[in-house]
Amino acid sequence: MKIFTAAREKMVEHQLEDRGIKDIKVLYAMRKVARHLFVTEALQSRAYEDCPLPIGENQTISQPYMVAYMTEALELKSSDIVLEIGTGSGYQSAVLAEIVRQVYSIERIKDLLARARKVFDELDYTNIATKNFDGTYGWKEKSPFDAIIVTAASPDIPEPLIEQLAVGGRLVIPVGNTSSQILKRVRKSEKGIEIEELCGCVFVKLIGKYGWGEDDNNSKGYLIH
Ligand code: SAH
Repeated sequence: MKIFTAAREKMVEHQLEDRGIKDIKVLYAMRKVARHLFVTEALQSRAYEDCPLPIGENQTISQPYMVAYMTEALELKSSDIVLEIGTGSGYQSAVLAEIVRQVYSIERIKDLLARARKVFDELDYTNIATKNFDGTYGWKEKSPFDAIIVTAASPDIPEPLIEQLAVGGRLVIPVGNTSSQILKRVRKSEKGIEIEELCGCVFVKLIGKYGWGEDDNNSKGYLIH
């Protein structure tokens, strides 16, 4: 069985460090997590390429740089409790689990979650709890969260996620239409929330009560010029 150590090291140096990822906890996790184990065998040789890859059910595992960038933007501490919406392959959850105390991850597609869960168990990630549900509701029983990451594109910031963020907490989410978005960071303080725009990005749709409808295609009032 190939272990791809050299490919992973090259990915971290050229795709992450050379492009400005600096957080040592993020670089450590990206060096450690075996991305090829989160894709099908046919795609394993491409797992360290600079692009997203299909994971089935019309969904994708994000580009390594985007995973690292979003993780860095969360400004994580080892004692943090993190909520992820969109488990997908489980790769982003594993990267988070290398850094923080506990990860809660929600995925709406049952088969994807079952596959991710199997990998978590094989790799012994005991600090990732998952749920098959609409993540736009958040996970109230486990809140408040120090950080929340949404790995699918939303027309707006779901209100329950803001509510479930701890004071001092950070939420990172792609917001926009279904073809392109802006990655936003929300910070919650005693005084309220502050929203920053980080960069442009492209994600698959966040589908749910506070996201897009199943068949929506920019039907929530976004104009494309
Ligand atoms: N973090 C993933 C990226 C997966 S792509 C990875 O590292 O592989 C985004 C995922 O969000 C898809 O699997 C999709 O099914 C899921 N998703 C979309 N809307 C959702 C919702 N409302 N709740 C939970 N998951 C959702």
